Amino acid sequence: MPLPTQTLWHPYAQMKTQPKAPRVVGGQGAWLHLEGGEALLDATCSWWCMIHGYGHPRLVHALKAQADTLCHVMLGGLTHDPAQQLADALVRVTPKGLDHVFFSDSGSVGMEVAMKMAVQYQVQCGRPEKHKMLSLMRAYHGDTTGCMAVCDPEEGMHSLFSGFLPRHHFAPAPTAPFEASPEAVEGDIAALHQVFEQHHQEIAALLMEPLLQAAGGLNMTSPYYVRAARELCDEFNVLLVFDEVATGFGRTGKLFAAEHAEVTPDIMVLSKGLTGGYLGHAATLATSHVYETFLSDDPGHAFMHGPTFMGNPLACRVALESLAIFEEEDYLGKIATLNAVLRHELFEDTALHQHPHVDDVRVLGATAVIEAKTPEQLTGVQDFARERGVWLRPFGRWLYTMPAYVTTPDEMRRITSVMKAWFLR
Ligand SMILES: *Cc1c(COP(=O)(O)O)cnc(C)c1O
Repeated sequence: MPLPTQTLWHPYAQMKTQPKAPRVVGGQGAWLHLEGGEALLDATCSWWCMIHGYGHPRLVHALKAQADTLCHVMLGGLTHDPAQQLADALVRVTPKGLDHVFFSDSGSVGMEVAMKMAVQYQVQCGRPEKHKMLSLMRAYHGDTTGCMAVCDPEEGMHSLFSGFLPRHHFAPAPTAPFEASPEAVEGDIAALHQVFEQHHQEIAALLMEPLLQAAGGLNMTSPYYVRAARELCDEFNVLLVFDEVATGFGRTGKLFAAEHAEVTPDIMVLSKGLTGGYLGHAATLATSHVYETFLSDDPGHAFMHGPTFMGNPLACRVALESLAIFEEEDYLGKIATLNAVLRHELFEDTALHQHPHVDDVRVLGATAVIEAKTPEQLTGVQDFARERGVWLRPFGRWLYTMPAYVTTPDEMRRITSVMKAWFLR
């Protein structure tokens, strides 16, 4: 019997109309190699995770060496060096105070872990009525059920499931930009304060993507907003959870976005860049204050979670190598160089800013977005870019780049020139 025509179901895709997907056969640095010899410069490093680019020899070697030793073992009741060393390394590099690491296999599950941890923390502190989350409009925290319920309920892609999802609280998305003065952020903070005032009795945790709401439209906000969130959480006995799945590992210009605000959250979630994209994995870090509420003579106070593949040795080993490369090869310097190119290419072009289809242009770290006025104004941009040797994958009204940090300044300019040419053609 012949196979059905389409056995492989693609993500976020209307399978009836999606054009044939380009077939990737390899990759080197920031470039994807397609069948037939075509090469595409990847402007988004595979959903922002391939921060060292493709085919990095040190990462490939780390995986092969670990595969020769131990590919997998359960973390239930057993331990191994890669997991222990990665936990130690993450405690060392993350904001001071995050001293305990719980591994899982994806960003969504890392966020599920964070939410369960927050609710159980409140129960064990004698506040069982605090069992809802406070999230922000334009937030994106993942595609699993618990995460869908804390994504933007209106503009997000999960509104279809609203009847199925638990209800949480939402504060307006912050509007003041990264560079805003303290006064310009006051309105955003007041709006957040109001939700705390009204609902703090039932809120376990405030979830936020610090400084950069990524999949919600690359909405950027000020470090003052993040700092105010910390103060409000302390005032109202609410845990602060940073979802640094997208912002972690350099994307905003510092190793973690939290550093811009000099804030330590109670819980922090890392994934995407954690392994340099070479395997799926996530880490949920907690402070001792949170961790210690789980220590008890009552076995019921243990944290009842344990993904099969948590702490996978291959993933931990490649994550350690990724972090070593990041530190040894001055990645923060590379990111600063990319930032300078992005600012120069996208801010100095007045024709771009005055274009009737362009609503806004934003740059932060190794992230840049040209926001169009309507999604239709981006129809066709992907083919346009491919003809010019660049892989762009815009969503909604947002034409953006989040390149691998190994992208050279010339390659970065090639990406921005295609993004600009789409509007100025
Ligand atoms: C991608 C992303 C997630 C989900 O991670 P997955 O590994 O796709 O489950 C969660 N939060 C943020 C901020 C993300 O960008």
